Amino acid sequence: MIPPGGTIGILGGGQLGRMLAIAAAQLGYRTHVFAPEAEQPAADVASRATRARYDDEGALRAFAAAVDVVTCEFENVPAACLALLEALVPVRPGARAFAVAQDRLIEKQFVETLGGTPAPYAAVDDMASLERAIDRLGLPAVLKTRRFGYDGKGQVRLDARSRAATALADLGGANLVLERLVPFTSEFSIIVGRGVDGAEAHYPAIANRHEDGILAESLAPASRLQAAHVEGATALVIRIANALDYVGILACEFFETDAGVIFNEMAPRVHNSGHWTIEGAETSQFEQHIRAIAGLPLGSPAMQTPVAIMRNILGDAVSGAHALLADPHAHLHLYGKREAAAGRKMGHVTILRA
Ligand code: AMP
Repeated sequence: MIPPGGTIGILGGGQLGRMLAIAAAQLGYRTHVFAPEAEQPAADVASRATRARYDDEGALRAFAAAVDVVTCEFENVPAACLALLEALVPVRPGARAFAVAQDRLIEKQFVETLGGTPAPYAAVDDMASLERAIDRLGLPAVLKTRRFGYDGKGQVRLDARSRAATALADLGGANLVLERLVPFTSEFSIIVGRGVDGAEAHYPAIANRHEDGILAESLAPASRLQAAHVEGATALVIRIANALDYVGILACEFFETDAGVIFNEMAPRVHNSGHWTIEGAETSQFEQHIRAIAGLPLGSPAMQTPVAIMRNILGDAVSGAHALLADPHAHLHLYGKREAAAGRKMGHVTILRA
Protein backbone atom coordinates (compact mmCIF):
# COMPACT_ATOMS: atom_id res chain seq x y z
CA MET A 1 0.00 0.00 0.00
CA ILE A 2 1.28 3.46 -0.85
CA PRO A 3 0.90 5.61 2.31
CA PRO A 4 -0.59 9.11 2.18
CA GLY A 5 2.02 11.54 0.89
CA GLY A 6 3.53 8.89 -1.38
CA THR A 7 4.31 9.69 -5.01
CA ILE A 8 2.68 8.21 -8.06
CA GLY A 9 4.74 8.30 -11.24
CA ILE A 10 2.80 8.78 -14.48
CA LEU A 11 4.36 7.96 -17.84
CA GLY A 12 2.75 10.21 -20.44
CA GLY A 13 1.70 13.83 -20.20
CA GLY A 14 -1.74 13.94 -21.83
CA GLN A 15 -5.25 14.55 -20.57
CA LEU A 16 -5.59 11.06 -19.10
CA GLY A 17 -2.53 11.76 -16.94
CA ARG A 18 -4.01 15.13 -16.02
CA MET A 19 -7.22 13.57 -14.73
CA LEU A 20 -5.26 10.81 -12.96
CA ALA A 21 -3.10 13.44 -11.21
CA ILE A 22 -6.20 15.34 -10.05
CA ALA A 23 -7.67 12.13 -8.59
CA ALA A 24 -4.35 11.24 -6.96
CA ALA A 25 -4.14 14.66 -5.29
CA GLN A 26 -7.60 14.15 -3.77
CA LEU A 27 -6.32 10.95 -2.14
CA GLY A 28 -3.30 12.74 -0.71
CA TYR A 29 -0.71 11.57 -3.22
CA ARG A 30 1.92 13.55 -5.05
CA THR A 31 2.37 12.88 -8.75
CA HIS A 32 5.42 12.98 -10.97
CA VAL A 33 4.80 13.10 -14.71
CA PHE A 34 7.43 11.78 -17.14
CA ALA A 35 6.98 12.63 -20.83
CA PRO A 36 9.03 13.99 -23.74
CA GLU A 37 6.56 16.51 -25.16
CA ALA A 38 6.93 20.27 -24.72
CA GLU A 39 3.25 20.63 -23.89
CA GLN A 40 2.00 18.37 -21.09
CA PRO A 41 -1.58 18.83 -19.85
CA ALA A 42 -0.75 16.44 -17.00
CA ALA A 43 2.31 18.40 -15.83
CA ASP A 44 0.13 21.49 -15.29
CA VAL A 45 -1.57 19.74 -12.35
CA ALA A 46 1.22 17.42 -11.14
CA SER A 47 3.60 17.94 -8.21
CA ARG A 48 6.65 17.34 -10.42
CA ALA A 49 7.44 16.79 -14.08
CA THR A 50 10.41 15.37 -15.95
CA ARG A 51 10.70 16.18 -19.62
CA ALA A 52 12.76 13.39 -21.15
CA ARG A 53 12.57 10.68 -23.76
CA TYR A 54 11.32 7.19 -22.90
CA ASP A 55 14.76 5.79 -23.82
CA ASP A 56 16.69 8.17 -21.53
CA GLU A 57 17.98 5.60 -19.03
CA GLY A 58 19.42 8.14 -16.61
CA ALA A 59 16.19 10.12 -16.47
CA LEU A 60 14.15 6.93 -16.05
CA ARG A 61 16.35 5.76 -13.16
CA ALA A 62 16.02 9.13 -11.41
CA PHE A 63 12.24 9.00 -11.98
CA ALA A 64 12.00 5.47 -10.53
CA ALA A 65 13.97 6.60 -7.46
CA ALA A 66 11.58 9.51 -6.91
CA VAL A 67 8.27 7.60 -7.05
CA ASP A 68 6.55 4.75 -5.15
CA VAL A 69 4.67 3.24 -8.10
CA VAL A 70 4.56 3.89 -11.86
CA THR A 71 1.50 3.87 -14.09
CA CYS A 72 1.00 4.74 -17.75
CA GLU A 73 -1.54 7.05 -19.33
CA PHE A 74 -0.92 5.88 -22.92
CA GLU A 75 -0.42 2.41 -24.27
CA ASN A 76 2.49 2.68 -26.66
CA VAL A 77 5.13 2.91 -23.95
CA PRO A 78 8.32 1.27 -25.28
CA ALA A 79 8.85 -2.22 -23.85
CA ALA A 80 12.46 -1.41 -22.86
CA CYS A 81 11.26 1.55 -20.80
CA LEU A 82 8.77 -0.63 -18.89
CA ALA A 83 11.36 -3.38 -18.38
CA LEU A 84 13.88 -0.91 -16.96
CA LEU A 85 11.31 0.61 -14.58
CA GLU A 86 9.87 -2.75 -13.49
CA ALA A 87 13.29 -3.78 -12.17
CA LEU A 88 13.31 -0.71 -9.91
CA VAL A 89 9.75 0.06 -8.80
CA PRO A 90 6.24 -1.48 -9.04
CA VAL A 91 4.70 -0.76 -12.46
CA ARG A 92 0.90 -1.14 -12.42
CA PRO A 93 -0.53 -2.43 -14.67
CA GLY A 94 2.59 -4.39 -15.62
CA ALA A 95 4.56 -4.80 -18.83
CA ARG A 96 2.69 -7.94 -19.93
CA ALA A 97 -0.59 -6.04 -20.37
CA PHE A 98 1.24 -3.58 -22.62
CA ALA A 99 2.91 -6.31 -24.65
CA VAL A 100 -0.53 -7.76 -25.41
CA ALA A 101 -2.34 -4.46 -26.03
CA GLN A 102 0.40 -2.99 -28.23
CA ASP A 103 0.10 -5.65 -30.92
CA ARG A 104 -3.31 -6.26 -32.52
CA LEU A 105 -2.35 -9.78 -33.61
CA ILE A 106 -1.11 -10.90 -30.18
CA GLU A 107 -4.10 -9.19 -28.58
CA LYS A 108 -6.63 -11.08 -30.73
CA GLN A 109 -4.88 -14.43 -30.18
CA PHE A 110 -4.73 -13.80 -26.43
CA VAL A 111 -8.41 -12.89 -26.22
CA GLU A 112 -9.36 -16.00 -28.21
CA THR A 113 -7.59 -18.19 -25.65
CA LEU A 114 -9.92 -16.66 -23.04
CA GLY A 115 -13.07 -17.38 -25.06
CA GLY A 116 -13.45 -13.96 -26.73
CA THR A 117 -14.37 -13.55 -30.40
CA PRO A 118 -12.51 -10.95 -32.46
CA ALA A 119 -13.56 -10.08 -36.02
CA PRO A 120 -12.29 -12.80 -38.41
CA TYR A 121 -8.65 -11.81 -39.06
CA ALA A 122 -5.42 -12.81 -40.74
CA ALA A 123 -1.83 -11.64 -40.39
CA VAL A 124 -0.54 -9.72 -43.44
CA ASP A 125 3.16 -9.30 -44.19
CA ASP A 126 3.27 -8.93 -47.98
CA MET A 127 1.08 -8.94 -51.08
CA ALA A 128 0.81 -12.74 -51.16
CA SER A 129 -0.46 -12.97 -47.58
CA LEU A 130 -2.86 -10.07 -48.24
CA GLU A 131 -4.29 -11.90 -51.29
CA ARG A 132 -4.75 -15.06 -49.20
CA ALA A 133 -6.37 -13.05 -46.39
CA ILE A 134 -8.84 -11.49 -48.84
CA ASP A 135 -9.65 -14.93 -50.28
CA ARG A 136 -10.39 -16.24 -46.81
CA LEU A 137 -12.12 -13.25 -45.17
CA GLY A 138 -13.77 -11.59 -48.16
CA LEU A 139 -14.37 -7.87 -48.63
CA PRO A 140 -15.11 -5.33 -47.33
CA ALA A 141 -12.39 -5.55 -44.70
CA VAL A 142 -10.13 -3.25 -42.71
CA LEU A 143 -6.34 -3.42 -43.03
CA LYS A 144 -4.63 -2.26 -39.84
CA THR A 145 -1.10 -1.85 -38.58
CA ARG A 146 -0.37 -4.33 -35.78
CA ARG A 147 1.26 -1.60 -33.69
CA PHE A 148 0.95 2.13 -32.96
CA GLY A 149 -2.55 2.71 -34.34
CA TYR A 150 -4.92 5.08 -32.48
CA ASP A 151 -8.04 7.15 -33.15
CA GLY A 152 -8.56 5.41 -36.50
CA LYS A 153 -4.96 6.11 -37.62
CA GLY A 154 -2.97 3.24 -39.10
CA GLN A 155 -5.95 1.63 -40.77
CA VAL A 156 -7.50 1.57 -44.24
CA ARG A 157 -10.88 0.22 -45.27
CA LEU A 158 -10.59 -2.13 -48.21
CA ASP A 159 -13.65 -2.46 -50.47
CA ALA A 160 -12.11 -3.66 -53.71
CA ARG A 161 -9.25 -6.02 -54.48
CA SER A 162 -7.92 -3.49 -56.96
CA ARG A 163 -7.07 -1.19 -54.02
CA ALA A 164 -5.16 -3.87 -52.09
CA ALA A 165 -1.65 -2.98 -53.28
CA THR A 166 -2.16 0.73 -52.50
CA ALA A 167 -3.57 -0.02 -49.04
CA LEU A 168 -0.65 -2.34 -48.32
CA ALA A 169 1.89 0.28 -49.40
CA ASP A 170 0.12 3.05 -47.43
CA LEU A 171 0.49 1.04 -44.21
CA GLY A 172 4.14 0.12 -44.69
CA GLY A 173 3.76 -3.26 -46.42
CA ALA A 174 4.26 -5.56 -43.40
CA ASN A 175 3.30 -6.20 -39.76
CA LEU A 176 -0.38 -5.74 -40.58
CA VAL A 177 -3.61 -7.52 -39.84
CA LEU A 178 -6.66 -7.78 -42.09
CA GLU A 179 -10.03 -7.84 -40.31
CA ARG A 180 -13.39 -8.53 -41.84
CA LEU A 181 -15.64 -5.44 -41.62
CA VAL A 182 -18.12 -6.12 -38.83
CA PRO A 183 -21.74 -5.11 -39.60
CA PHE A 184 -22.24 -3.85 -36.05
CA THR A 185 -25.50 -2.45 -34.70
CA SER A 186 -23.60 -0.59 -31.99
CA GLU A 187 -20.20 -0.08 -30.44
CA PHE A 188 -19.71 -0.32 -26.70
CA SER A 189 -16.99 -0.48 -24.08
CA ILE A 190 -16.61 -2.23 -20.76
CA ILE A 191 -14.39 -0.70 -18.09
CA VAL A 192 -13.20 -2.80 -15.17
CA GLY A 193 -11.03 -1.89 -12.19
CA ARG A 194 -8.93 -4.61 -10.53
CA GLY A 195 -7.09 -4.24 -7.25
CA VAL A 196 -3.74 -5.60 -6.05
CA ASP A 197 -5.74 -8.23 -4.12
CA GLY A 198 -7.61 -9.35 -7.26
CA ALA A 199 -10.90 -7.65 -6.31
CA GLU A 200 -12.79 -6.26 -9.34
CA ALA A 201 -15.38 -3.55 -9.89
CA HIS A 202 -16.99 -2.94 -13.28
CA TYR A 203 -18.93 0.01 -14.61
CA PRO A 204 -22.14 -0.37 -16.61
CA ALA A 205 -21.63 -0.92 -20.35
CA ILE A 206 -21.07 2.30 -22.30
CA ALA A 207 -22.46 2.95 -25.81
CA ASN A 208 -19.93 4.75 -28.03
CA ARG A 209 -20.32 6.67 -31.26
CA HIS A 210 -17.21 7.33 -33.34
CA GLU A 211 -16.80 9.91 -36.10
CA ASP A 212 -13.86 9.47 -38.49
CA GLY A 213 -12.41 6.83 -36.14
CA ILE A 214 -12.43 9.22 -33.16
CA LEU A 215 -14.78 8.83 -30.21
CA ALA A 216 -17.47 11.51 -30.45
CA GLU A 217 -19.97 10.54 -27.75
CA SER A 218 -20.42 8.02 -24.94
CA LEU A 219 -23.69 7.15 -23.26
CA ALA A 220 -23.97 5.29 -19.94
CA PRO A 221 -25.62 2.94 -19.39
CA ALA A 222 -25.78 1.42 -22.89
CA SER A 223 -29.40 0.44 -22.33
CA ARG A 224 -30.15 -0.74 -25.86
CA LEU A 225 -27.67 -3.62 -25.70
CA GLN A 226 -28.89 -7.14 -25.04
CA ALA A 227 -28.33 -7.98 -21.37
CA ALA A 228 -26.69 -11.31 -22.25
CA HIS A 229 -24.21 -9.47 -24.51
CA VAL A 230 -23.24 -7.08 -21.72
CA GLU A 231 -22.84 -9.95 -19.26
CA GLY A 232 -20.69 -11.94 -21.67
CA ALA A 233 -18.46 -8.99 -22.52
CA THR A 234 -18.05 -7.98 -18.89
CA ALA A 235 -17.13 -11.54 -17.91
CA LEU A 236 -14.54 -11.59 -20.72
CA VAL A 237 -12.90 -8.35 -19.56
CA ILE A 238 -12.69 -9.73 -16.03
CA ARG A 239 -11.08 -12.91 -17.40
CA ILE A 240 -8.57 -10.77 -19.33
CA ALA A 241 -7.76 -8.78 -16.18
CA ASN A 242 -7.32 -11.94 -14.12
CA ALA A 243 -5.18 -13.65 -16.76
CA LEU A 244 -2.83 -10.64 -16.84
CA ASP A 245 -2.87 -10.29 -13.03
CA TYR A 246 -3.87 -6.78 -13.95
CA VAL A 247 -3.88 -3.88 -11.49
CA GLY A 248 -5.76 -0.69 -12.38
CA ILE A 249 -8.42 0.25 -14.92
CA LEU A 250 -8.74 -1.93 -18.02
CA ALA A 251 -11.03 -0.91 -20.91
CA CYS A 252 -12.17 -3.08 -23.81
CA GLU A 253 -14.11 -2.03 -26.90
CA PHE A 254 -16.72 -4.27 -28.51
CA PHE A 255 -19.09 -4.40 -31.48
CA GLU A 256 -22.64 -5.67 -30.95
CA THR A 257 -24.01 -7.54 -33.97
CA ASP A 258 -27.19 -9.53 -34.57
CA ALA A 259 -25.06 -12.66 -34.23
CA GLY A 260 -23.36 -11.74 -30.94
CA VAL A 261 -20.51 -9.69 -29.50
CA ILE A 262 -17.19 -9.09 -31.26
CA PHE A 263 -14.10 -8.04 -29.28
CA ASN A 264 -12.39 -5.06 -30.95
CA GLU A 265 -9.49 -3.95 -28.76
CA MET A 266 -8.25 -3.37 -25.24
CA ALA A 267 -6.62 -0.37 -23.60
CA PRO A 268 -4.41 -0.98 -20.55
CA ARG A 269 -5.35 2.35 -19.01
CA VAL A 270 -8.16 4.73 -18.17
CA HIS A 271 -10.31 5.28 -21.25
CA ASN A 272 -11.99 8.17 -23.04
CA SER A 273 -15.35 6.37 -22.91
CA GLY A 274 -15.10 6.42 -19.09
CA HIS A 275 -14.79 10.19 -18.62
CA TRP A 276 -18.48 10.44 -17.60
CA THR A 277 -17.58 8.54 -14.41
CA ILE A 278 -16.03 11.72 -12.93
CA GLU A 279 -19.50 13.06 -12.20
CA GLY A 280 -21.68 10.10 -13.15
CA ALA A 281 -20.30 7.31 -10.96
CA GLU A 282 -19.71 7.04 -7.22
CA THR A 283 -16.03 6.40 -7.93
CA SER A 284 -14.53 7.81 -11.14
CA GLN A 285 -12.32 5.64 -13.32
CA PHE A 286 -9.42 7.93 -12.41
CA GLU A 287 -9.93 7.55 -8.64
CA GLN A 288 -10.46 3.81 -9.12
CA HIS A 289 -7.20 3.51 -11.02
CA ILE A 290 -5.28 5.41 -8.32
CA ARG A 291 -6.92 3.33 -5.57
CA ALA A 292 -5.99 0.12 -7.39
CA ILE A 293 -2.35 0.97 -8.10
CA ALA A 294 -1.88 2.38 -4.59
CA GLY A 295 -3.14 -0.87 -3.04
CA LEU A 296 -6.26 0.78 -1.57
CA PRO A 297 -9.73 -0.84 -1.59
CA LEU A 298 -11.75 -0.23 -4.75
CA GLY A 299 -14.73 2.15 -4.63
CA SER A 300 -18.27 1.58 -5.85
CA PRO A 301 -18.64 1.90 -9.64
CA ALA A 302 -22.41 2.45 -9.34
CA MET A 303 -23.96 5.33 -11.27
CA GLN A 304 -25.01 8.51 -9.44
CA THR A 305 -27.73 9.36 -11.96
CA PRO A 306 -29.81 7.22 -14.35
CA VAL A 307 -28.06 8.55 -17.47
CA ALA A 308 -24.71 10.19 -18.25
CA ILE A 309 -23.66 11.50 -21.66
CA MET A 310 -20.09 12.48 -22.51
CA ARG A 311 -19.14 14.42 -25.64
CA ASN A 312 -15.60 15.09 -26.73
CA ILE A 313 -14.62 18.62 -27.66
CA LEU A 314 -12.35 18.36 -30.68
CA GLY A 315 -10.16 20.95 -32.38
CA ASP A 316 -11.64 24.44 -32.88
CA ALA A 317 -14.83 23.56 -31.00
CA VAL A 318 -12.91 24.42 -27.83
CA SER A 319 -13.31 28.16 -28.56
CA GLY A 320 -17.08 27.95 -27.96
CA ALA A 321 -16.92 25.41 -25.14
CA HIS A 322 -17.92 27.76 -22.33
CA ALA A 323 -21.34 28.18 -23.98
CA LEU A 324 -22.02 24.54 -22.98
CA LEU A 325 -22.26 25.71 -19.38
CA ALA A 326 -25.62 27.34 -20.17
CA ASP A 327 -26.96 23.88 -19.26
CA PRO A 328 -26.62 23.71 -15.45
CA HIS A 329 -26.28 19.92 -15.69
CA ALA A 330 -23.27 20.16 -17.97
CA HIS A 331 -19.79 19.56 -16.52
CA LEU A 332 -17.00 20.95 -18.63
CA HIS A 333 -13.42 19.64 -18.64
CA LEU A 334 -10.82 21.45 -20.73
CA TYR A 335 -7.32 20.04 -20.97
CA GLY A 336 -5.38 23.29 -21.34
CA LYS A 337 -3.88 22.44 -24.75
CA ARG A 338 -2.70 25.45 -26.72
CA GLU A 339 -2.94 24.17 -30.32
CA ALA A 340 -6.48 23.25 -31.41
CA ALA A 341 -5.47 21.04 -34.36
CA ALA A 342 -8.33 19.34 -36.25
CA GLY A 343 -9.50 16.19 -34.44
CA ARG A 344 -7.35 16.90 -31.37
CA LYS A 345 -9.03 16.11 -28.05
CA MET A 346 -9.23 19.51 -26.32
CA GLY A 347 -11.77 18.69 -23.63
CA HIS A 348 -15.06 16.95 -22.93
CA VAL A 349 -18.44 17.73 -21.45
CA THR A 350 -20.54 15.40 -19.33
CA ILE A 351 -24.27 15.89 -18.96
CA LEU A 352 -26.19 14.05 -16.26
CA ARG A 353 -29.86 13.28 -16.79
CA ALA A 354 -32.44 12.10 -14.29
P1 AMP B 1 -9.90 0.77 -33.79
O1 AMP B 1 -8.77 1.73 -33.75
O2 AMP B 1 -9.51 -0.60 -34.18
O3 AMP B 1 -10.74 0.80 -32.53
O4 AMP B 1 -10.88 1.30 -34.96
C1 AMP B 1 -11.51 2.58 -34.87
C2 AMP B 1 -12.95 2.48 -35.32
O5 AMP B 1 -13.03 1.98 -36.67
C3 AMP B 1 -13.79 1.51 -34.50
O6 AMP B 1 -14.26 2.09 -33.33
C4 AMP B 1 -14.91 1.18 -35.51
O7 AMP B 1 -15.84 2.24 -35.57
C5 AMP B 1 -14.15 1.12 -36.83
N1 AMP B 1 -13.69 -0.27 -37.07
C6 AMP B 1 -12.47 -0.76 -36.79
N2 AMP B 1 -12.36 -2.07 -37.11
C7 AMP B 1 -13.56 -2.44 -37.62
C8 AMP B 1 -14.10 -3.67 -38.16
N3 AMP B 1 -13.38 -4.79 -38.21
N4 AMP B 1 -15.40 -3.65 -38.57
C9 AMP B 1 -16.14 -2.52 -38.51
N5 AMP B 1 -15.69 -1.34 -38.04
C10 AMP B 1 -14.42 -1.28 -37.60
